[in-house]
Amino acid sequence: MIRRRLAILVSGRGSNMDAILRAAENPDYPLVPVVVVSNRAGAPALEKARRHGIEAIHLKGGPTFEDRLVRVLEKRGVEVVALAGFMKLLRGAMLERFADRILNIHPSLLPSFPGLDAQAQAFEHGVRVSGCTVHLVDSGMDTGPILGQRCVDISSCHNEKEVASAILEQEHVLYPDILARFAMNLYRTEGRRTTEVKTGPHGQDFLALHFGVGTDPGQRDVAVSACLLGIPCRYAGDSRAHEGVLRHVEGRRVLPVCPEVLGGMWTPRAPMIVHGPTGPGMWKDGAQAISEDGENRTQALLKGAERAAGLVSRSGVREVILKERSPSCGLHRIHTPQGLKDGHGAFAEILKNMSVTLRTEEDFPSSRTENLD
Ligand code: SF4
Repeated sequence: MIRRRLAILVSGRGSNMDAILRAAENPDYPLVPVVVVSNRAGAPALEKARRHGIEAIHLKGGPTFEDRLVRVLEKRGVEVVALAGFMKLLRGAMLERFADRILNIHPSLLPSFPGLDAQAQAFEHGVRVSGCTVHLVDSGMDTGPILGQRCVDISSCHNEKEVASAILEQEHVLYPDILARFAMNLYRTEGRRTTEVKTGPHGQDFLALHFGVGTDPGQRDVAVSACLLGIPCRYAGDSRAHEGVLRHVEGRRVLPVCPEVLGGMWTPRAPMIVHGPTGPGMWKDGAQAISEDGENRTQALLKGAERAAGLVSRSGVREVILKERSPSCGLHRIHTPQGLKDGHGAFAEILKNMSVTLRTEEDFPSSRTENLD
């Protein structure tokens, strides 16, 4: 249901771009390419992208390049940027605006052989094994945190061309896969180290229902705020299953649902609280969900709540178990700058008008945790 908007930056023929565009032809792929930008006029990748029906733009280099690029991407609502043979170091405006949202693929096992002609460097160095690396982009040359790698045996290659072609084959497998996992919020970064989160027994179902399109939930018995099932969608991105809820739903057909993820929010994210009116009808009366970093997330939240309610309604669920006090799922009480106040989260407010039984985590004995989410 969520497809993140992707821009691909190229300078040449764009074979990795092609691999991404082919993956994205599947409507369940969690990214939708919306624009391809090249810093080189006449890059063959531009024509290829147009043949795929994707807008393709040449942006001239120069001192204002990054500012112009940011404007192009912002205008198209881009959330993730993939470099695919883009021969220019990104700095300044792009790294600020899309911090930790720009990925690159490099044809070596980093940190070995960064920079230009990595395949030739590997061949001349005489290594037996090389490969490719997908990493986040920072201000250095191929220095950002590593998200994934594939090894390639190059011991039988006779020249750098053979090395390049053996590695390229693996790049085409690795890049679309890592991009998809990235779009689904599956990585957590701590310093240089990234790890892929474990999503628990309901995790695959959650990912299928929340990313991509055309997923039919089928008949379910009970819907549950996904974070109560241990799915790491909480604002902090950690996993805190609620034992009592898990016991209650055991053996039943469970619909895991997270309105914030369905509203396009990333995990982890800054927590949010509700400003403005509270009480019955507060969202219609102009309540605003503002995150700790000052972003107004009201529209995203309302959209996510509608999508979540759509899933509940299509799955025929009669019982919904909600996380307490969240601006999304909270029932009866929500966090405001003045502390806890009466009111429902945006999702709970819609559910109140549906014929479902609403319960919260507090109805199930278990160890509980206090948090803003
Ligand atoms: S409380 Fe609701 S919106 Fe917040 S993380 Fe849990 S499931 Fe998602």
